[in-house]
Amino acid sequence: MEPSLPAVFTQRHYVGGYDRTLKAHCEGAFLKLLEQNRQKKEPSYDYDLIVIGGGSGGLAASKEAAKLGKNVLVLDFVVPTPLGTRWGLGGTCVNVGCIPKKLMHQTALLGQAIKDAPTFGWQLDDKTIQHSWSSLTEAVQNYIGSLNWGYRVSLRENNVTYENAYGEFIGPHRIKTTNNKGVQKIHTAERFLIATGERPHYLNIPGDREYCITSDDLFSLPYCPGKTLVIGASYVALECAGFLAGLGLDVTVMVRSILLRGFDQDMANKIGEYMEEHGIKFLRKYVPVKIKQIKEGTPGLLKVTAHSAEYSEIIEEYNTVLLAIGRDACTRKIGLQTVGVKINEKTGKIPVNDEEQTNVPYIYAIGDVLEGKPELTPVAIQAGRLLARRLYGGADTKCDYINIPTTVFTPLEYGACGYSEEKATERFGNDNIEVYHSYFWPLEWAVPSRDNNKCYAKIICNIADKERVIGFHVLGPSAGEITQGFAAAMKCGMTKEQLDGTIGIHPVCAEIFTTLSVTKRSDGNILQSGC
Ligand code: FAD
Ligand code: NAP
Repeated sequence: MEPSLPAVFTQRHYVGGYDRTLKAHCEGAFLKLLEQNRQKKEPSYDYDLIVIGGGSGGLAASKEAAKLGKNVLVLDFVVPTPLGTRWGLGGTCVNVGCIPKKLMHQTALLGQAIKDAPTFGWQLDDKTIQHSWSSLTEAVQNYIGSLNWGYRVSLRENNVTYENAYGEFIGPHRIKTTNNKGVQKIHTAERFLIATGERPHYLNIPGDREYCITSDDLFSLPYCPGKTLVIGASYVALECAGFLAGLGLDVTVMVRSILLRGFDQDMANKIGEYMEEHGIKFLRKYVPVKIKQIKEGTPGLLKVTAHSAEYSEIIEEYNTVLLAIGRDACTRKIGLQTVGVKINEKTGKIPVNDEEQTNVPYIYAIGDVLEGKPELTPVAIQAGRLLARRLYGGADTKCDYINIPTTVFTPLEYGACGYSEEKATERFGNDNIEVYHSYFWPLEWAVPSRDNNKCYAKIICNIADKERVIGFHVLGPSAGEITQGFAAAMKCGMTKEQLDGTIGIHPVCAEIFTTLSVTKRSDGNILQSGC
């Protein structure tokens, strides 16, 4: 608040009679003082912090900053997909990512459980068992709606101001917001946090934006996708292909190069084999070049032409084509050039120092927009909370981006933490690492007698460092639950000897990690005949 002219200057009975000259003199002196004071003082802003993006990272940071007594504005705005899909507050994870994906994965697991059930004595009338896509999406969207509402309430309870508007820098410490009615506002803040996340990438080939869907459309698709082509071979592609096939749909995955780039390829290939054995088709070394609509409808019919450097061109018809070919950081249309924030021109990602600070000191960034950091919800949340505590709570803990566990929710779930075998070999040399591994057969799969020698456990140890576990990999049911616990142990520096000294829990899948004895080097038998 700027000081106002003292009341005494404006009162008629000033200094025992009315003296205009003295009044003018005093007023002039006061205004001069005021101006000098204004120049010396920090400029005043509407907010302490403006967060652009109300997703996993932005919401966490804004609530934490507000809890620490700061005046915070969070902006969140969803630009509709080319097909017009939009959603509520909470960002990718809640609306079009982790949450609907895991629920649809669970739907597929239940389908498998129904198949297993008769061997456990359940008597099912096969004719009555059908899946309803519309019931699924309704249940999923209702749940998401409750989360959207919960986020709004939580912002209000934490005294965070929320504006459902698109933010764009227009000058130092200044941002313009535009809501869906086109109403614009200007806000200023001492600091800014960019947490705008990513959106699906398009192929830029004829027909892709007009006829293809992405994960942004899938979870609320108003009709069952039918025969589906999934283009891409990473997390999003394989997870979506997995649950769609689990619902009984005819699914093909078009792979440009390898599965799950960046992950341990031994594990990635085992995931691919399992998916193929469970009816998912793979078109390897193909890329789509043209998508044409041959029948309108919900779903309609699309003709896809694909090229390969090694094989002949293919033309095939699908009801739905799902693009899952990566995601683009939302950094190119938020005025970063106006305020001088540097991005990697090729990827659009924002480089930051180890305190999530960009090259412009009052602007920070977290989550999926960051260069070289894992794109995962808990990472965005942790970085956001710690940043707020450092900025406003006197803390100094930085986000630790090492040994972040992750799980790919493919039909055979894959949990991982630390080095892949390839990266460990590259970093330490093959002679300096010991890889222990084994297949295992979950008890609950043994009674229906399915899928033996598909679940797999592997740890990578650094021989020179007391066989410290530097890589943890598991393929099997509840891989995420298993990996979470072992990730904590890895953070504490778990060695192979400590793992061996840990008594297992019987009969669970994770027990296998307490009894690993066969090294890959020894080429010993790791096949299981029972559990
Ligand atoms: P986001 O959550 O994407 O939030 C950014 C928000 O900012 C969005 O609401 C966006 O609309 C808004 N915004 C953008 N620009 C502006 C602007 N200029 N003004 C106002 N608002 C703006 N991670 C996991 O950990 N586990 C999983 O199982 C998992 N599954 C996934 C499945 C799918 C299909 C996808 C796509 C992602 C998945 N992820 C998963 C990744 C996870 O969703 C992201 O890492 C996480 O959401 C990133 O959070 P964020 O805060 O950086 O961005
Ligand atoms: P991604 O990891 O960037 O993978 C993109 C995939 O698309 C790759 O297989 C790539 O093949 C392929 N591709 C790219 N361009 C192509 C083209 N023009 N034609 C054909 N194929 C093409 O992207 P993503 O799967 O969307 O995942 C994004 C991020 O979201 C991940 O990094 C992850 O952190 C997060 N996520 C997490 C989870 C989870 O935690 N369970 C789930 C989903 C997503 P190449 O290998 O040949 O390049």
